[in-house]
Amino acid sequence: MPKGKIIKALSGFYYVLNDGNLIQCRGRGVFRKNKITPLVGDYVEYQAENDREGYIMEILPRENELIRPPISNVDQAILLFSAKEPDFSTALLDRFLVLVEANEITPIICVTKMDLLQNNEIELIESYASDYRSIGYEVFLTSSKRNEGVDIILEKLKGKTSVFAGQSGVGKSSLLNALNPNLSIKTDDISTHLGRGRHTTRHVELIEIANGKGLVADTPGFSSLDFDELEAEYLGNCFPEMESRKSECKFRGCLHLNEPKCAIKAAVEEKEIPEYRYQHYLQFLQEIKDRKPRY
Ligand code: GDP
Ligand code: ZN
Repeated sequence: MPKGKIIKALSGFYYVLNDGNLIQCRGRGVFRKNKITPLVGDYVEYQAENDREGYIMEILPRENELIRPPISNVDQAILLFSAKEPDFSTALLDRFLVLVEANEITPIICVTKMDLLQNNEIELIESYASDYRSIGYEVFLTSSKRNEGVDIILEKLKGKTSVFAGQSGVGKSSLLNALNPNLSIKTDDISTHLGRGRHTTRHVELIEIANGKGLVADTPGFSSLDFDELEAEYLGNCFPEMESRKSECKFRGCLHLNEPKCAIKAAVEEKEIPEYRYQHYLQFLQEIKDRKPRY
């Protein structure tokens, strides 16, 4: 049976991309008995009726599944942060990183609007970039205005399904337009401000980029920035530099607060982990602990 990936869902039809061809499908397989609804991003097996139409018979296991936007099998999140206007914030960056890590998606950090910086301000951004690189993250410094770093981001999108994320005003639309003049990402700020409920059936679509070599969600991801789904014990796993050291903590399940012989606190004291990363960890941990029970 042919396989493909759902890139669009509309009026009961699923549009399955297979090797450059788009097949309009209806759902028919056994997955319907299990109450699984096909999602944009799903890899599926379909039965072809002709070269344009078919029936989805099977949904292949999902690597991951985002709620907002509703999309599965996301390979990476491009996290956009402007160097200025609005100012670069490691607190906000760390928050996005935790949410992306918790969804088991690879983050790529992209600092935009580098052209706005004076020479003496560039150093600070570069030192942050080097902190995050030593954790293992990829960091790119870009300017859509000067068309700098845009090609590297385009290379990174090839062969992957990506979502873009970032506050409004960081330059998402500008970067995406620089990447692909045919693509204009929807800014979801209006629906975010209107609150939940009104846009429950928000439509999401994967758009082909770089001559069909990459797929990009047309709606920004991670619009909700709270840690609703995260357990306190799991938070440390979303900080790779803590995750890799936690086996050296004396106590299993160490939260790296006041426990004796904590490898994380030792690493912060030795400046192997930046103080601000640890402070953000503490802040997020407190937020999770203060969270109201939902039931
Ligand atoms: P979005 O809300 O994230 O989609 O951001 P936009 O792409 O709409 O950009 C917000 C503002 O930042 C606009 O005024 C853009 O002209 C400006 N902007 C975007 N990218 C750059 C850049 O690389 N350099 C400069 N100087 N301004 C930029
Ligand atoms: Zn510890």
